[in-house]
Amino acid sequence: LRYVYRFGGGVSDGGNGDKNLLGGKGANLDGMAGIGLPVPPGFTISTAMCTRYYDEGGKFPESLKAEVADGIAHIEGITGKMFGDEGDPLLVSVRSGARISMPGMMDTVLNLGLNDKTVEGLAATSGDARFAWDSYRRFIQMYADVVLELDHGSFEEALEIAKEDKGVHLDTELTADDLRALVAAYKKLVDQQWGKPFPQDVHDQLWGAVGAVFGSWQSDRAKVYRRLNDIPGSWGTAVNVQAMVFGNMGETSATGVAFTRDPSTGERAYYGEFLINAQGEDVVAGIRTPQYLTLAARERAGAKAASMQEAMPEVYDELARVFDLLETHYRDMQDIEFTVQQGKLWMLQTRSGKRTAKAALKIAVDMANEGLITRKEAIGRVDPAALDQLLHPTLDPKAPRDVIAKGLPASPGAASGKAVFDADTAEKRKAAGEDVILVRVETSPEDIHGMHAAKGILTARGGMTSHAAVVARGMGRPCVSGVGALAIDAKAKLFRVAGREVKEGDLLTIDGATGEVMMGEVATVQPELAGDFGVLMEWADEVRRLKVRTNAETPLDCRTARQFGAEGIGLCRTEHMFFDASRITAVRQMILAEDVTGRKAALEKLLPEQRSDFAEIFEIMAGLPVTIRLLDPPLHEFLPHEESEFAEVATATGIDIDKLKRRAAELHEFNPMLGHRGCRLGVTYPEIYEMQARAIFEAAVAVATKLGEAPIPEVMIPLVATRRELELMKAVVDAAAKAVFEETGTTLEYLVGTMIELPRAALKAGEIAEVGEFFSFGTNDLTQTALGVSRDDAARFLGVYVEQGIYAKDPFVSLDIEGVGELIEIAAERGRKTRPDIKLGICGEHGGDPASIAFCEKTGLDYVSASPYRVPIARLAAAQAAL
Ligand code: PEP
Ligand code: MG
Repeated sequence: LRYVYRFGGGVSDGGNGDKNLLGGKGANLDGMAGIGLPVPPGFTISTAMCTRYYDEGGKFPESLKAEVADGIAHIEGITGKMFGDEGDPLLVSVRSGARISMPGMMDTVLNLGLNDKTVEGLAATSGDARFAWDSYRRFIQMYADVVLELDHGSFEEALEIAKEDKGVHLDTELTADDLRALVAAYKKLVDQQWGKPFPQDVHDQLWGAVGAVFGSWQSDRAKVYRRLNDIPGSWGTAVNVQAMVFGNMGETSATGVAFTRDPSTGERAYYGEFLINAQGEDVVAGIRTPQYLTLAARERAGAKAASMQEAMPEVYDELARVFDLLETHYRDMQDIEFTVQQGKLWMLQTRSGKRTAKAALKIAVDMANEGLITRKEAIGRVDPAALDQLLHPTLDPKAPRDVIAKGLPASPGAASGKAVFDADTAEKRKAAGEDVILVRVETSPEDIHGMHAAKGILTARGGMTSHAAVVARGMGRPCVSGVGALAIDAKAKLFRVAGREVKEGDLLTIDGATGEVMMGEVATVQPELAGDFGVLMEWADEVRRLKVRTNAETPLDCRTARQFGAEGIGLCRTEHMFFDASRITAVRQMILAEDVTGRKAALEKLLPEQRSDFAEIFEIMAGLPVTIRLLDPPLHEFLPHEESEFAEVATATGIDIDKLKRRAAELHEFNPMLGHRGCRLGVTYPEIYEMQARAIFEAAVAVATKLGEAPIPEVMIPLVATRRELELMKAVVDAAAKAVFEETGTTLEYLVGTMIELPRAALKAGEIAEVGEFFSFGTNDLTQTALGVSRDDAARFLGVYVEQGIYAKDPFVSLDIEGVGELIEIAAERGRKTRPDIKLGICGEHGGDPASIAFCEKTGLDYVSASPYRVPIARLAAAQAAL
């Protein structure tokens, strides 16, 4: 088994890149080398080594030494420089690279190979002593931070002191001698803090850095990032060792990052930033404000500093050619890092670029239209969950705005919330239910949890490819970056801008599409659903097999869902209609009634109300199936709980207050979720279900007559455990249907079926299907009852359960496929055996979760039902599951 794979100079050991083995970065360096692009030579130590390193308690096997020596020899052979050579030393970078890019999450060391001797060699061969000493001091600083884990601040401080002593502001104003003195100061700091001198042996340096990169895989921030992005810890990272190239060798040198298409809008235009005479991390770190890549972008932004297209036209043309080659080769939008060393272009990295949902849609649709990918691939390119970003409101263009500053539109969407100035406060306030905007000078990987907690992110520094921008886009958080006018005082928890002061807790709005920052909260409007969204959805609809319905009971929800493409209603929870202020009195009279006659009298009042609810829904969903579930929750939920409410209710219902309290006490249950609810209500008080069924059929007949198109009612009985329960309830529904059809002289098709939400029902599905014409898996209750975990109390401990790997994800969000999934498979199989054409669907929360939808496809269900805003997500996920 080999662990080291070489690339560059005509070699590509990885054979065009296995990301699982070489990591994303390593695989693509290998890939670029393979198609003849200018990649500095290097080698990748595979992720398999990372796993072995941890398995063996943080040690490298002896055999790795020879492999790494081979890798170094490869680089030496191509560059003609020797590692550790005092005359013309080879310098290398050491970087991490997991399967999936984790921007800024893990460690990097640059300029490795410098020591007290080789720095002189570098000065001589480059003819630039200042450059050599600057590289050495950068190396010590990074190595001390990343590998030796010394106090980063004290090195920064030493640099500040050096500048102060000199009376200068910029690093670039320090001379070779100043930097030589700074190196001496740095080495002293290492001595003091580490207790040993800075390593002079270049091989010791290399092994230290390799160990640190593997070590960074288990750093706290990497762990947080993995948890937020569902990346397994077992993947490990690779290590890439590569010849250094320098963007800081004068005015013909530069470094930059670029996207082959605009990552924010998806527009087909090169997009990027670069800095002349700078080194790799300077652009991403957002310390200097970078220049634009293209003339068009510079002009659009009204920026003064020359674009790369103007400053380095020949290199720019070559870069543009490389972009096209990369897109053709990888067939996706690429995110690139490059360096120009004294007029020569070098490619340091390429990967599929992170993008907003809007850009993902546009790029997928455009690339399919360009013939670069197929329509099916286009469908697979968009993360269904990310569609969420597009379906939510943006700022109302007509609403008044009190704009206080403008920055870069770094990640689209609008967000309002209270200003907070650090990540921990963001997290705390979010936990307390507040919406917050995280305001930082610039963000770093340590801010990740705060960015996640915030509704939006606002930074004073940094470009479109800064940490804040990249991470915000990935998370789908609106972000405005580089608002230079903000004077942030994070300690005092405030910022000043244009003569105004904004303190922690003040309301702000940011518009990630325009870069505007506004005081207060600004009104929003609904999103545009045509264009690329419509096209991709159409393509998705062509390939998906699963139908997508919605869970809705209000006319507004029904209309929204239909607009989003719902093909019917999978769950209309009728109890929600009972809470309406105009009917709650009648509902309470029904519950409080002493006998059937009293109950029937109250139900008489509810009948016309329910009928008009159903009629409205049938009209909106004309021609589509509508599943209506009869009353489900325990009755006491409708009764007052507070002392003051009792008096009110007594007056409204005309019932004596003591009697009211007695009845409420009678209805009290110790475990209502498993109590007198679901079909148990219908079995004990059949008149309730009878009224509801009558309302359904009367409404259906009325709408059929009015529209000339009959609705398709599917009457659903909740919480069934046995065949007999369903049989009794079906008889009630059938009798109501028969009566209505006789009275009106109109007959309609309808179905009676049941929810499968108890384990017993899943197991006895064969018998239950003798009566039920359809099953709808109520996976909320099925999860609750199968796992024995209360849906209302789970939050207290489920977090720990997920952290401990007991469940991979919250089982109320993403189906427990192994356990609950098996019950569904059993029920589907047994149900079909009895009734081959039985209709099967899912209506728990899982119906809108992509992983659960994939399971539904595999199990051959007929439809999933999701809340209205999740309908498009479900359509796309269903299409992906069918690919
Ligand atoms: C379910 O249990 O999955 C379901 C859809 O019903 P409810 O959430 O109303 O209990
Ligand atoms: Mg339920």
